[in-house]
Amino acid sequence: MTVDQRFRTGGFRIHAGAKIHVDPGPGALLLSHLHDLNPLDLDCVVVTHCHPDHYCDAEVLTEAMTKRMTQRRGVLVGSESVIRGREKWGPAVSPYHQSKVGEVVCLRPGETCEIGEVKLEGTPTKHSDPTTFGIKFHTSAGLVGYTGDTEYFEELPEYFKGSRVLIINVTRPQNRRIRWHLCSDDAIDILKRVEPELAVMIHMGMLFLRNPPDEEAARIERESGIRTVPGYPGTRLTIGKEISVARPLKQATLGDFKLNG
Ligand SMILES: [Zn+2]
Repeated sequence: MTVDQRFRTGGFRIHAGAKIHVDPGPGALLLSHLHDLNPLDLDCVVVTHCHPDHYCDAEVLTEAMTKRMTQRRGVLVGSESVIRGREKWGPAVSPYHQSKVGEVVCLRPGETCEIGEVKLEGTPTKHSDPTTFGIKFHTSAGLVGYTGDTEYFEELPEYFKGSRVLIINVTRPQNRRIRWHLCSDDAIDILKRVEPELAVMIHMGMLFLRNPPDEEAARIERESGIRTVPGYPGTRLTIGKEISVARPLKQATLGDFKLNG
């Protein structure tokens, strides 16, 4: 799907005082412009592990975050593989780019770091890059959880208890599990135990061309009892007392390009 780009691989942004771009895979920079998000106002870029569908645009986003490399500002948060390199993985961001940001944080599961008013807490995963982490975002609007890339394991839901929103990397539909990743049936099990107010499904793989994300999200919602939406590019959540979801009416094209900054 990284090569085919049917569901895009831009990751997502969180605005909670600080503006944070998480897992900027191929297209993240262009998709930011297309969806009227300014890459120049980022305070933090997070890369949870060293696979290109999560890190490809990280360097160009650090160039934006540092105001085109003219100011030493912003925080780069990454796994050990992303920041230092580990065995055959990484580093995913060059030492040159790392030297230009305000701060570099190598995050491990169980560790925390603060970006303005937001606290990031690393959560454990089971993924082929052994240094991969998931994230709990502690914000003034409550807890937002992100599984990152992981396969299902018994304790996984425990880490996300208390999340108002859970963002889940669902790579396969139905029960068509592959190693290191989650499928829809795993998402149902997780949601029954975490019980967030809303689940967002991202990181859909090729088999979702046969089982469209909208249909799978509806099935996950029916079977888990948790409101579930596919995280198509341009989808915006507003987390207030209630959580509202605005979906793009159409997929953005180059005709929608606006120059930011
Ligand atoms: Zn991965």
